[in-house]
Amino acid sequence: MKDRFNRTIDYMRISITDRCNLRCRYCMPDGCDKVSMDQILTYEEIERICRAAARLGIRKIKLTGGEPLVRLGCTDLVKQLKMTEGIDEVTLTTNGQILGRYLDDLKAAGTDGINISLDTLDPGRYEYITGGGCLEKTLQAIDLSAKAGIPTKANCVLQKGFNEDEILSLAQYAFDKGIQMRFIELMPIGIADPSRGISNEQVLQILNEKWPGLTEDDMRHGNGPAVYYRRPGIPGGIGLISAIHHRFCSGCNRIRLTSQGQIKPCLCYENGIDLKPYLKQSDEELEAALKQAILEKPMEHCFTEARFGSEEHRLMSQIGG
Ligand code: SAM
Ligand code: SF4
Repeated sequence: MKDRFNRTIDYMRISITDRCNLRCRYCMPDGCDKVSMDQILTYEEIERICRAAARLGIRKIKLTGGEPLVRLGCTDLVKQLKMTEGIDEVTLTTNGQILGRYLDDLKAAGTDGINISLDTLDPGRYEYITGGGCLEKTLQAIDLSAKAGIPTKANCVLQKGFNEDEILSLAQYAFDKGIQMRFIELMPIGIADPSRGISNEQVLQILNEKWPGLTEDDMRHGNGPAVYYRRPGIPGGIGLISAIHHRFCSGCNRIRLTSQGQIKPCLCYENGIDLKPYLKQSDEELEAALKQAILEKPMEHCFTEARFGSEEHRLMSQIGG
């Protein structure tokens, strides 16, 4: 369906757990508040919400978290969602640490794509930024996922003083592997320090200096706000997600569902509609609540404005980042 600003809303990101097996320094270095399982939506509840969302025109679902693969049964959920009438695409965002053991099931379930976080190619830096992660496991997961024929992308958040010197090597890695490397601007969510972010304009300048033939890619490689670039004749490419410096809101097509059942119209604001009470009501009432959330979508985010109280205070992992 369309929102008030005539944007087509056809994409829902679902956080299936706040928990994670890593402790990324800009996300949840100290872990997250323990939420008991009875506060978390069951898979049946998520499936019911997805059926209602599909009736309103949601066509694509992304499972995220926290780390979605740490919740048991994640691959079964993918399978169920793939069978939901109206849902065309189910994808997953993961840190890749335990992806290897679920790849066959994800492939069999019909997963349409996997995004794997990869902030650095240096094992020591990887361990540092993720609070103990193993780079080799994630690199292997990227290889295995691509080899399994699942469209695979890497996601990288650049930060001054950490990985800004790896822009070219990360880009080269994407060209070598024939995958898309997406550079996501650091957003002031949770504990992330926005002064450490690097604008995608700077990234593009660095890439253009190295590869002057870089051209904007007409092909769509996803459902989101990334602008893609490629080198003619070379597989793989670069996606730039300019959350901050070029507001991506005019083309926003998404809503978010938190693990505890809140529908968030916008990443930036903490308001939303708690769907839990509606899960005790009829399908029509549940659908009406979802519709209201879509109609409440603001025109744009407020990341660059002075803080005024209604902005999101939770961690990225708690809001389906
Ligand atoms: N655990 C999974 C992962 O790391 O891919 C999925 C959840 S994680 C919250 C999703 C993505 O959000 C990751 O690529 C992560 O790097 C990114 N992220 C986390 N905090 C961020 C922030 N403050 N600004 C921009 N991206 C962020
Ligand atoms: Fe976990 Fe992903 Fe957050 Fe890192 S970015 S702590 S992997 S949820």
